[in-house]
Order: sequence, then C-alpha cells, then structure tokens
Amino acid sequence: MKRIVLFGPPGAGKGTFSGQIKQALPEIIHVSTGDIFRENLKNETPIGLRAKKYMDRGELVPDDVVIEMVKDRLNKEDVKKEGFVLDGFPRTLSQAEALSNITEIDYVILLEVDEDIIIKRILGRYSCPNCEEIYNKYFMKPKKEGICDKCGALIKFEQRSDDNEETLRNRLNVYKQNANPILDYYRSKGKLKDINYEKKLTEKDIIKVLEL
Ligand code: AMP
Repeated sequence: MKRIVLFGPPGAGKGTFSGQIKQALPEIIHVSTGDIFRENLKNETPIGLRAKKYMDRGELVPDDVVIEMVKDRLNKEDVKKEGFVLDGFPRTLSQAEALSNITEIDYVILLEVDEDIIIKRILGRYSCPNCEEIYNKYFMKPKKEGICDKCGALIKFEQRSDDNEETLRNRLNVYKQNANPILDYYRSKGKLKDINYEKKLTEKDIIKVLEL
C-alpha cells in the first residue's frame, strides 16, 4: 500500500504519470483535485459553483474548500485500504501542513519539465470523453486518428476550458509562487523524489521510482 503525492507545474504530466502508476499498482486510488472540481462543476454542486470563478481565471480555489474536500476523500475506506496517488494537492504550504494532519505519506514525486514543453503539453492536450485516456496533438496522438487507443470511442481535439494561453500563464505563475516552500517542507522531511519527466518513463523506471 503506497501513499504518494505527485507534484509539479500544470502540464508536467501528473495525469499521465498517475496512469503509469496505476499500471504498476492497479488497486491504488487516483485522487485528482482538479478532476473532482470539474466533476462538481459539471453537476453544478455548491463546491463546483464556488470553485468555478477561480478555475476560469487559473487561480487557486480557497484552501478551506480544497482541504475539506481532500479530507473527505482520503478518509474513505477504499483509499485507506489501497493507498492513493494524490494529483494536484497540495498547492500551498497550508495545504501541505493540513495534509500531514489527515494522513501519513510515503513520498512526494516532483515531476520536472522544461517550460517550453509544459506549454505545448497544455495547449495540445485533450482526453477521451469516454475513458479519459490522455492524448496530445503534438506528442501523443491516438494510433488511429480520431479513435481512442484504449476504449475505441470517437475522439476529437477539444481543449479543457482553462487550457488557454492567458489562464495558463496565470497558472504557471501561481505554481512558481507556491512551489518552493512546499518543496522545502517535503525535502526537510526527507520525502522528496525529484525526477525528470520530459520523456515518458518506461514501466521499469516507474517500478524503480515507486520502490516496488
Ligand atoms: P488541475 O486539473 O490540477 O490543473 O486543476 C484545475 C483547477 O482546479 C486549478 O487551476 C485550480 O483552480 C483548481 N484546483 C485544483 N487543485 C487545487 C488545489 N489543491 N488548491 C486550489 N485550487 C485547486
């Protein structure tokens, strides 16, 4: 059972890396705060409606809302039993400190990627509407144009509404302002693993990183 935090700028490949971890550890639960917010937004829940204005601008949703949401999710039985890959949280030092009161973690994996690649990853990314497999119009197209490799559904290039250039610039700035204190915090606890994720890792690499 592993409890893993994935850390890195938007577009570093946290979603793709989570998929790779799931291949090595199929039972582990992927908890993405961005996905939970998007789901809440789609269903127009109070959390979704509160988060919308921040998400549209590429700003952080207030800590109290996110922390409560993560606490709820990490306290569920499935997560306690199978462990988790936490993707998109913590994004502030207060969130990191709150997380230490919610659960132990085994390690934090920092995905390091050059900013030019990040921009192309974000502006080119899209996903299958059926199974959520991630693609990129520059780097990772489906083998057969318009058809999902994983589930065979029809797909076309469609960006997330916050994957536009202006919001992206804001999201990268927000990341840069918050990242160092969080990284120092985990480095001082001896939890940080730093990996270069400019190229997708092989299954062997993943197994090594996860210490399986
Ligand atoms: P993501 O899919 O991780 O890029 O998240 C999309 C958006 O959801 C972010 O730009 C924020 O507005 C919001 N969000 C996701 N996770 C957090 C978090 N840990 N703290 C604050 N806002 C968040």
